[in-house]
Amino acid sequence: MYFALPKEYREAPIEQLKERIGEARARLGDRLMILTHHYQRIEVVGFGDHVGDSYGLSKIAAARKDVEVIVFCGVHFMAESADILTADHQLVYLPNPLAGCPMADMAEMADVLEAWEYLKPFGAEEKIMPISYMNTAAGLKAFTGRNGGLICTSSNAKAALDYGLSRREKVFFFPDENLGYNTGHAYGLKPEEMVIWDFRKDKGGLTDEQIKRAKIILWKGHCHVHTNFTAAHIAQMRKDYPGIQVIVHPECPPPVVQAADGSGSTKYIVEYCRNAAPGSTIAIGTEINLINRMAHEHPDKTILELSGQTCPVCANMYRTTLNDLAYCLENYADIKPIKVNEPMRSEALLALEKMLEIG
Ligand code: SF4
Repeated sequence: MYFALPKEYREAPIEQLKERIGEARARLGDRLMILTHHYQRIEVVGFGDHVGDSYGLSKIAAARKDVEVIVFCGVHFMAESADILTADHQLVYLPNPLAGCPMADMAEMADVLEAWEYLKPFGAEEKIMPISYMNTAAGLKAFTGRNGGLICTSSNAKAALDYGLSRREKVFFFPDENLGYNTGHAYGLKPEEMVIWDFRKDKGGLTDEQIKRAKIILWKGHCHVHTNFTAAHIAQMRKDYPGIQVIVHPECPPPVVQAADGSGSTKYIVEYCRNAAPGSTIAIGTEINLINRMAHEHPDKTILELSGQTCPVCANMYRTTLNDLAYCLENYADIKPIKVNEPMRSEALLALEKMLEIG
């Protein structure tokens, strides 16, 4: 996809952009809601009516049927989810249409359907529940709903796994192997009960025995931002800052999650920083924009990026600028909203509603 902002927006000075965004918001009034994900640039978050993780923002989108225009400063799958959860008269816009999620792209429908077909003799349709992370395209959410499964986020992955394993023998977890493994580990599953389906290999690279023994089949996917962190980074931080608290996102590799003092969703990270005692030193393993914002909001605490050397930025979240937001707000009537068509929408909605039900 090619997308370039008109020159007028590309070259506008920051102060002018802020003014124009403010005026556009005022013109739209209560008809507009701007949702901003925690990983957005700090200046974009400043214009959000709500800031949150994908779960929290989905709940808000689902609840606010009164709003006509929803501008979602996040990545594509989030805007799609918001469209699925809102009514037909509500229009959802993604200010930068190039903002995708490489992890979501790791689970292509053709590969997923091929895997499901292979698993049918193992009782896929009755015994295996698909659980898809929010970070998936609408097509995979629809597949999940169609096959009796549900969506989860990092906030409720354990509850989703509990839902799945209390109703079926196995779960097929898409697309983040790390979140799936970390959740299974916290649930009490043994390593041999969690296997990885590598879509690039014949039969997922698994033997029949491995599939039969598995409680979770994990899709081979990952977030390149969170897999930057290593257990060695944690050891180094503990050496450099005795008494430091280390918290990480569950998309980090299992050795990192297991070596940290705590792990959880972006909401968990935000609350952890808020509730930490003044004077605390905290190292965080997640996206840099959230870490910087936490450091900015809590000057009485020392908040550090865990690796101390890489810059864990999500280039896709970073794509959305004030220039994009100004353009979107001033021209939304001429921009194509994000739309998920039927029957995909209804099928995906089944899986999303189950997620909202389990809380
Ligand atoms: S941080 Fe990772 S999972 Fe989140 S949008 Fe970026 S690439 Fe996707």
